[in-house]
Amino acid sequence: TPLELPATDQLLVDGVLARQLRPLARTITLIESLRPDHRARARRVLEALLPHTGGAMRVGISGVPGVGKSTFIEALGLYLIEQGLRVAVLAVDPSSSVTGGSILGDKTRMERLSQNTNAFIRPSPSAGSLGGVASKTRETLLVCEAAGFDVIIVETVGVGQSETAVAGMTDIFCLLQLPNAGDDLQAIKKGIMELADLIVVNKADIDPRLAMLAKSQIKSALAMLRHSSPNWVPPVLTLSALKQDGIAQFWGEITRYRETMQASGEFESKRRDQAQAWMWELIDAGLRERFRENTSVKHELPGLQQAVADGHTTPAAAAHRLLKYLSEEH
Ligand code: GDP
Repeated sequence: TPLELPATDQLLVDGVLARQLRPLARTITLIESLRPDHRARARRVLEALLPHTGGAMRVGISGVPGVGKSTFIEALGLYLIEQGLRVAVLAVDPSSSVTGGSILGDKTRMERLSQNTNAFIRPSPSAGSLGGVASKTRETLLVCEAAGFDVIIVETVGVGQSETAVAGMTDIFCLLQLPNAGDDLQAIKKGIMELADLIVVNKADIDPRLAMLAKSQIKSALAMLRHSSPNWVPPVLTLSALKQDGIAQFWGEITRYRETMQASGEFESKRRDQAQAWMWELIDAGLRERFRENTSVKHELPGLQQAVADGHTTPAAAAHRLLKYLSEEH
């Protein structure tokens, strides 16, 4: 049975489904709001949109600052629009909560793409922890799908845990690398290379020989890592985002990936797993929040923490006592 929504929220849903940009932007603003009443409204709007989601190719793009992400995304976006597709660009940037503004998805960074009517660029939500930022980007991704975008690019910067979050919400995770020996070592160390379904050596125009060398180094590095899919060997491409050279080949690999994964059934099973993992993340986060806000916990926590530090009680006994307060809640 269809949900009964208040008239204002029904207008948002209808507007998004009619592919209108203003209701789309207003729905995302609602999603990004931290007010509990807005959260409740956003949940209902998302439930109403859910049957209309799932149609886009979800592409994650990562790489260190300066590797050429925005140059690449702009070139790719314009290429896709030329093919008759509509493109949304979202970002996950946990540092934006510190700076109060996002460096990613910034419109001035993709000027030509942002002016195109078939493109929609949304900077990273700035509120809260990485978990909060990533969760809001996931919801925004679903709204963009309901608004009929064919390709959704989620950009993140090559630091910390944000890669894992983006890989967990996209169909294919692409890593942009510099044509420097050693850049691949950094990615391996951080465990990012393991997540990659596709690796791009950008700036190949500067020194094509060096780019080819980097490519073969990355290939041999990849051979030592185990990819998550038995049916896919992550390809390594060289490319110049600046000269827009290699964009079609890149998209060709994305298409091949999609076809391969769909044929094996992994495409759908990955999305199902991602949705369930997301639910558990929210449960974990919700439980932690309820725990911290519990009055008895608040009262007892400092003393028990001290007692554990001093060796007067065991961590297990303290945790058991604190967790019991949660089940006494009504
Ligand atoms: P981001 O920080 O990863 O988003 O990187 P940007 O897209 O802002 O690019 C950083 C710098 O590298 C800019 O000056 C770009 O013009 C330059 N750049 C990006 N792609 C290429 C490329 O393929 N070749 C060359 N030579 N420069 C590039």
